[in-house]
Amino acid sequence: MKKNSKIIRKTESGWDGITPKEYKTSGTNFKDITRHSLLGEGEDEHELNMQTRVFRVKEGGYSSLEYHRHPHSVMIVEGKGSMILGDEVHDLNTFDVVYISPETLHQFHADKGAPLSFLCVVDRYRDKPSVPGEKMLDEVMGDSEARRKARL
Ligand code: MN
Repeated sequence: MKKNSKIIRKTESGWDGITPKEYKTSGTNFKDITRHSLLGEGEDEHELNMQTRVFRVKEGGYSSLEYHRHPHSVMIVEGKGSMILGDEVHDLNTFDVVYISPETLHQFHADKGAPLSFLCVVDRYRDKPSVPGEKMLDEVMGDSEARRKARL
């Protein structure tokens, strides 16, 4: 039995041994968000079929508006905010849980006067996200609150 079980301790600014990374290395449709890859990317974690990340969005920031084939398993772990899910907008509070099904547009917003941090679990092997164009947004969202909230 390999003994590579471990505990990753919370520190004041993040997690012990985890260097926060840029949210994405390309694109501009996000703001003030960092990625903490907690489990699944390390050398000794290849047994995991999933990757566990925490994304921290500063007040006023947002994640990229995107869709993809792989689903997301999400829990809000700090703060509050809202999100676009398909053609709808939903408020989010700490410990709320979100399932984002395949091909569903999604974007997290820290727009309630607080930061928003969420845990997100994904398959290790997954497709790359696609970013919608204005035309697709008009088609999917029409003249809705979600369309007005969407940031590209
Ligand atoms: Mn996504």
